[in-house]
Amino acid sequence: GVGQMTNDLQRRISEAEDARELRDQVLSALEEAIVLFDAGGTVVYSNEPARRMFGDPDGVGQIAPLEARQAVEGALTSGVVHRRRFGAGVPSREFSGTAIPILEGRMVVLTVRDITESQRVEAMRRDFVADASHELKTPVAAIRAGAETIVRALDDDPEVVARFAEQIDRNATRLGQLVTDLLDLSRLEAEQPETTTVRLDRVVASEVESARAIAVSRQLEVGSDLEDVEVEANEDDLRLAVRNVLDNAVRYSSAGGAVSVYVIGRGGEAIVEVSDTGVGIPRRDLSRVFERFYRVDIARSRETGGTGLGLAIVRHVVERHGGSVEVESELGRGSTFRIRLPVNDA
Ligand code: ADP
Repeated sequence: GVGQMTNDLQRRISEAEDARELRDQVLSALEEAIVLFDAGGTVVYSNEPARRMFGDPDGVGQIAPLEARQAVEGALTSGVVHRRRFGAGVPSREFSGTAIPILEGRMVVLTVRDITESQRVEAMRRDFVADASHELKTPVAAIRAGAETIVRALDDDPEVVARFAEQIDRNATRLGQLVTDLLDLSRLEAEQPETTTVRLDRVVASEVESARAIAVSRQLEVGSDLEDVEVEANEDDLRLAVRNVLDNAVRYSSAGGAVSVYVIGRGGEAIVEVSDTGVGIPRRDLSRVFERFYRVDIARSRETGGTGLGLAIVRHVVERHGGSVEVESELGRGSTFRIRLPVNDA
């Protein structure tokens, strides 16, 4: 009967409404802004991110910024995909807009993606590769020059041969250290650490022992006072961080100096503190020493076998453990590096 037909119709209408609602929910959950235009340029649908970005335009003529409108108009008239990049907003962010004809050109879908972050990462990667290549070139050039000199001097100057063999050895070691540090850095950027409960004081104690051997040969004293402290951490990474800070304390000190190492647990925090009485760091450089390849004194860094990556590695390790690292220093008096790690006392 008629009642039955009305019920069917109503059921179908409400199903259609449900489907539309579902589609809107799904499309609005995406990060991309999506706007659908008919062949006349009228807006047929827009998802939530698009409504936030473009407001509620009726047609392509009201789409701003200009590049997005041009992409849609291009796709509508030519029937082929149009892409445009543009900046928008305050502070300005970068977007990539793509207008795609569908249904044989009877409609156009505009999608807009925020590419600010991916562009930033890409630029960082480019800089990193450029910096790393530059750093690698120096020892490679020295090795090649050394080898050439040796070939020429082979017959008549054994002393030159010895000297340049030593140059090759030194630069090959440096090259090896650079590659090791670069690999550590990229691993630290890529992977999440696997953590266990680690006795921080024991890690520091064993690194202090290793550092002491080198320090003694340079007439430096190394003192330590280590409280029992447990942290959730990746032990290898932690070891690497502590080693780099200790290594610097020794390398940037001169004979007669002292290095003091503390492990302190207090207030939900574990602190590793390494102080030296070495050359110190000028105030203007303090905030930059954790940047990769940043050195206050390039000659000294090279002489002592530095790569300029030690503190960048320290910062990466510490930050991915939810901690922080800080430095205090006075030029000519010494430096203190402090690693802070969170402790969850259950
Ligand atoms: P490098 O391999 O050159 O030592 P790092 O990343 O370990 O590189 O350190 C960056 C720069 O910070 C060093 O080149 C040096 O100028 C400065 N620095 C680091 N630790 C110390 C320290 N304990 N005393 C003085 N300067 C330091």
